[in-house]
Amino acid sequence: MTPNHTRTPKHTWTPKHTWDIDDFVQAAEATVEGLAAYVRESQDGEVPVIRRTPPGELAGRLGLARWIREGGMTPETYREWLGAYLAEGTRLHHPAYLAHQTAAPDFPSALADFVHGAINNPMAVYEMGAAAATAEFEVLHWMLAKVGFPEGGGVLTHGGSLANLTAMLAARAAAAPDAWTEGVPGDLAILAPPSAHYSITRAAAILGLGERAVVPLDVDDLGRIDVARLPEGLDRARRAGRRPMALVAAACATGTGLYDALRPIGEFCAEHGLWYHVDGAHGASALLSEEHRHLLDGIDLADSVIWDAHKMLRTASLAAAVLVRREGDLDAAFKQEASYLFYGDQGFDLIGRTVECSKAALGTKVFLNLAWRGERGLGEHVAARYATAHRFWELARERPGFHCPYEPESNIVCFRYGDGDQAEIRETLLEEGSFHLTSAEIGGVRHLRVTVIAPATDDKTLEALLDRVAALT
Ligand SMILES: *Cc1c(COP(=O)(O)O)cnc(C)c1O
Repeated sequence: MTPNHTRTPKHTWTPKHTWDIDDFVQAAEATVEGLAAYVRESQDGEVPVIRRTPPGELAGRLGLARWIREGGMTPETYREWLGAYLAEGTRLHHPAYLAHQTAAPDFPSALADFVHGAINNPMAVYEMGAAAATAEFEVLHWMLAKVGFPEGGGVLTHGGSLANLTAMLAARAAAAPDAWTEGVPGDLAILAPPSAHYSITRAAAILGLGERAVVPLDVDDLGRIDVARLPEGLDRARRAGRRPMALVAAACATGTGLYDALRPIGEFCAEHGLWYHVDGAHGASALLSEEHRHLLDGIDLADSVIWDAHKMLRTASLAAAVLVRREGDLDAAFKQEASYLFYGDQGFDLIGRTVECSKAALGTKVFLNLAWRGERGLGEHVAARYATAHRFWELARERPGFHCPYEPESNIVCFRYGDGDQAEIRETLLEEGSFHLTSAEIGGVRHLRVTVIAPATDDKTLEALLDRVAALT
């Protein structure tokens, strides 16, 4: 072995196993410079929002096979490689990025990801990262206070889908405490609108209830739970011999961005002894905006809530909170008897509350965004994106040929242009790299769908989108 005080000449690759600190510093500088240029040109909208190079060509351009085979990257070759890698990615900071609900991350949370990548404190057990574990604990308590769960508990998971699964597991434990050891009773059901995120149906399947255990609730034309017809839904489930273990409402729905009426739904659940789950993956962040908090009125009636930070709290993927009104319910999800987490001399282990064994320092990235921008700054971010989306709706409505089926409540807006194939419009925009948007079905009809998530998106962007769509046909 080479003693670590003898330095190997630069740029010749020797398989050494401790960090070469000089290499690290140079490579990190190249990263910062590369990212600074990338974010600047992205948010200035100077480059295409998306490139669609075929994977074979991309693998060649990035030299993937060669690097895998030969190794030997240096700070210099890395700099070049990173440039090519960034150029081929999808630019979430770009004003014309209007697609999936993933944040254009703010840099404090990016720093947290970098730090975690370097130190790797998988803190589900306290002894594997006391600082990271404590940061998560405090972030969770802040979230619990926002939701209105003073006696609550929580955990951060790698994403909303896993968070929904965890919440459904807690609901199952409440309805069938023996399920953990004895297996799942065949009569359990979940009541949810057909517009619920697909991770709910998946959770039902993963939990052993089967997809058919998801009993669809009656909804209005826009997919929102029809409160007046809740009793019918419950009856339907019971008549089919089902025992509903949870009812799921959306805050807000993925497709439309519309909020279910949380308070009356919560009151119905309380009256009928139903576990009330609010999927706030996207829209719970509106709790931070004075102007929009009313959309979540009644969320404190929930038994469980999920809330993604990587959507509207500006962290990178993934960081999602599972929050429960009674702390013990979350621990009961993964065993038969409940327990509670306290600050103790020995710390605390979140591992009893998660599907994951090791997990990333998810709290730290939420914490750093909060520490930098404050709760107020994040609330203003939410309000500003919601306002821009609303502005898009106003602009689209005024134009001939555009049809908007509803007034948006969040930063998600659906529309159609003309009677033609909307998917074709989307395909053209992506192909030319001018705009990145998605589509969604409303009442069985395909619509174009815009999610305003980048702070760089402004009225000019939206006017340009409308101009472009109108010019296409
Ligand atoms: C995005 C979303 C999810 C899934 O979250 P991931 O973090 O992408 O797994 C669940 N529910 C709703 C309402 C969502 O919008």
